[in-house]
Amino acid sequence: MIPAAFKYASPSTVQQAIELLSKHRDAKVLAGGHSLLPLMKLRLAMPPVLVDINRIPDLDYIREDPQLNRLRIGALARHDDFERSSLIEQRYPILWDTARGIGDPLVRNRGTMAGAVAHADPAADWPASLLALNAEVVATGPTGERVIPITELYVAILTTTLRADELLTEIRVPLPTERSGGAYEKLERKVGDYAVIGVGAQLTLDASGNVASAGIGLCNAGSMSIKATQAENFLIGKPVAPDNVNQAAQLAMEASDPIEDDRGPVDYKRAMVREMTRRALRRALERARGGAA
Ligand SMILES: Cc1cc2nc3c(=O)[nH]c(=O)nc-3n(C[C@H](O)[C@H](O)[C@H](O)COP(=O)(O)OP(=O)(O)OC[C@H]3O[C@@H](n4cnc5c(N)ncnc54)[C@H](O)[C@@H]3O)c2cc1C
Repeated sequence: MIPAAFKYASPSTVQQAIELLSKHRDAKVLAGGHSLLPLMKLRLAMPPVLVDINRIPDLDYIREDPQLNRLRIGALARHDDFERSSLIEQRYPILWDTARGIGDPLVRNRGTMAGAVAHADPAADWPASLLALNAEVVATGPTGERVIPITELYVAILTTTLRADELLTEIRVPLPTERSGGAYEKLERKVGDYAVIGVGAQLTLDASGNVASAGIGLCNAGSMSIKATQAENFLIGKPVAPDNVNQAAQLAMEASDPIEDDRGPVDYKRAMVREMTRRALRRALERARGGAA
């Protein structure tokens, strides 16, 4: 349980961090450390250099930017910052739900949304909600910034389109519009565990109450976080009636491809994708209508 030897760097600016990542191509960014350090202790990861970004100031923000029409989330915003934010609780309940279900208070105090997004573990909760929200990530590298839709971030388990010399500096979420609401439903074996299955759903209704836009993201339902596109498209233009919810949940289940492990067999997990999707959609609808959370 002792990591292999590594060099440690603690830059004080984003620019310095990128210079270090450019110089040491096998270096790893250290944010909350709650995914990286366990892997290093097991020697499944043996980066020769750690670039600790925790001393870079002003990366822990969560703020709305009306000009950009985005909620902007800095690389050091921690799970716990979302849980304690009234802005998130009131305007982004899907993110509030998600934060509250991650690990335990120790994990939430240190772990960052950006670290979870960059780590690309299909069992991570944030990516499912961010896929439902059509989020974007900002990657900053030696030649500047590029904005990547989260739908283009994941390529395989623990693998993203981020380059070795890029830092994920920001996550952006579209500002909520009228008649929109979201929810995250997580099935876990016990409090503090990773999800058996998690589902994030975000709905926007039109003036007549039909679905104007829908987002559905699945956690731990395949080798990557999954956006259930067919289920989303099915709902567009329809009322959120029980039959339509059931059909969308069925389509979400069909998009899933879980493996059997100690959290359950494949058939059970697929059935739980369907059930968690139903629950997330119902709660998202209630919130979109302005009802109780
Ligand atoms: C006991 C325990 C329970 C947990 N339970 C859950 C759970 O229920 N749900 C869940 O979703 N997660 C869970 N986690 C994981 C936790 O949420 C992690 O904190 C999170 O996945 C990673 O965030 P981090 O800031 O700790 O990243 P780190 O561990 O520091 O980094 C993870 C990876 O991302 C890279 N990285 C980090 N930040 C950046 C960046 N800004 N730019 C580029 N690359 C970056 C690192 O180089 C590394 O490869 C659990 C962890 C533990 C230890």
